[in-house]
Amino acid sequence: MGLQEIASRISDAERQAERPAGSVKLIAVSKVQPNARVEAVLSQGHRCFGENRVQEAAAKWPDFRTQFNDIDLHLVGPLQTNKARQAFDHFQTIHSLDRPKLAKTFARLAQEMGHCPKLFIQINTGEEPQKAGVLPAEADAFVAECRAMDLPVQGLMCIPPIDEEASLHFSLLTKIAARNGLEGLSMGMSADFEKAISLGATHVRVGSAIFGERTSG
Ligand SMILES: *Cc1c(COP(=O)(O)O)cnc(C)c1O
Repeated sequence: MGLQEIASRISDAERQAERPAGSVKLIAVSKVQPNARVEAVLSQGHRCFGENRVQEAAAKWPDFRTQFNDIDLHLVGPLQTNKARQAFDHFQTIHSLDRPKLAKTFARLAQEMGHCPKLFIQINTGEEPQKAGVLPAEADAFVAECRAMDLPVQGLMCIPPIDEEASLHFSLLTKIAARNGLEGLSMGMSADFEKAISLGATHVRVGSAIFGERTSG
């Protein structure tokens, strides 16, 4: 597959959904990929990438930033409170705001550091005990709580359960976002990004379909 094919499949999906060209942002999820593969995608002009670990991003991206301008880095994995400061240093957007304690830490850091990444609130649409995210029933209150702290919440994010029809989860996320007046929808991965676009995704997170299979992680 690769970048060009995924970009053209995104364009087709936008057209089919009668959405404006370029309305969906492609986050190339580069976690655990060899640097050479990441560099190849950078050399093709792509600048928007996703990582799921702060540590890995901190080790890998400062070097790429010296070689390539305007890199737009997204944290798509869970975040420990004690790594929040480092996350502020490396990421332009964080997709995994999932609990009040983390929101409070972000608010404090935003004050102290004078900037805050764009934020997506992760919703545990499948109510899976092992998965991060705010429960659907608690989403409205949490959005309000984040807004009261002046956090720059752009939208919602979900990772559907692997053994369920993703569309149901994308629709639920769309509904929760709409009733909260949020425009951003971070949903859809390699296997289902076209479905997500048809249901309103503004950000798709695609890894293996661009870079090839991951050997770990
Ligand atoms: C790894 C990962 C992706 C990309 O998954 P692929 O199936 O390789 O496209 C997307 N979102 C999150 C949160 C991830 O951890």
